[in-house]
Amino acid sequence: MTTVGDQKSAGTGQTTLKQRYDAVRARIAEAARRVGRSPDAVLLAAVTKNASIDQVRELIELGHVDFAENRVQTLVQRAGQIEEFLQRHRQIRGSKPVNLPDRLRWHMIGHLQRNKVRRVLDLVRLVHSVDSLRLAEEIQVASDRREEPVEVLVQVNTSGEKSKFGVAHAAASHLVEQIDTMMTLRPRGLMCMAPLSDDPETARPVFERCRELIEDIRSEGLGGNHFNILSMGMSSDFEIAIECGANIVRVGSAIFGPPVPEAEQ
Ligand SMILES: *Cc1c(COP(=O)(O)O)cnc(C)c1O
Repeated sequence: MTTVGDQKSAGTGQTTLKQRYDAVRARIAEAARRVGRSPDAVLLAAVTKNASIDQVRELIELGHVDFAENRVQTLVQRAGQIEEFLQRHRQIRGSKPVNLPDRLRWHMIGHLQRNKVRRVLDLVRLVHSVDSLRLAEEIQVASDRREEPVEVLVQVNTSGEKSKFGVAHAAASHLVEQIDTMMTLRPRGLMCMAPLSDDPETARPVFERCRELIEDIRSEGLGGNHFNILSMGMSSDFEIAIECGANIVRVGSAIFGPPVPEAEQ
């Protein structure tokens, strides 16, 4: 099978997508083991916002299923392109068993404007970025005919930075409680981002606060049995996040490389 993407860079001293993907997975497993957790307990969401569509296809061929986007428009477009790609594969392969998934699992990780909610709901497995009651209510309205509830995380602004989205630490448990009363939403946990910094260790106290917060909310009996996802950690700090209890990490550039200028994609 020929693979698309950046295989050709092998041997030139640069790493291939497969090498970077394998390295990230090995680092995830190592970080999990350091704190006595199973590597399987950490889900890797591959963030495709700076990836080319060929790289996304290549990662799918490597068996990856969970992908994340932070913009609605890109997510909708990519999901459509990938669906076509999977269909073509199915036709070409006919009845031969192939290693490709039936569907990808998309994660919406960026700020979600209320007027765009409808466009993503049917495509995503998990919305990581619910940061207001109004947004939760909009999702409720848009999902009133669904059989399965929409699974959401509450995004917490644990770092206290003004520029970041997310509810204040002190408001998170109340929002979880409110979401839990909505029939077509299921609160699954919390998402947070560490402030940008050259030193990944600055993320540790932020991640620890977020872990304490989810434990507090659970011990108050809020959120229900399913309230157990902690989405934190990106390319620069995912190992620290895992040490602090993350069970979803969102990794982009460590897998796909630095952003490619648009003209080259
Ligand atoms: C871009 C992005 C990521 C991944 O960032 P990298 O540094 O490329 O790994 C993770 N989470 C969110 C919300 C993002 O927007």
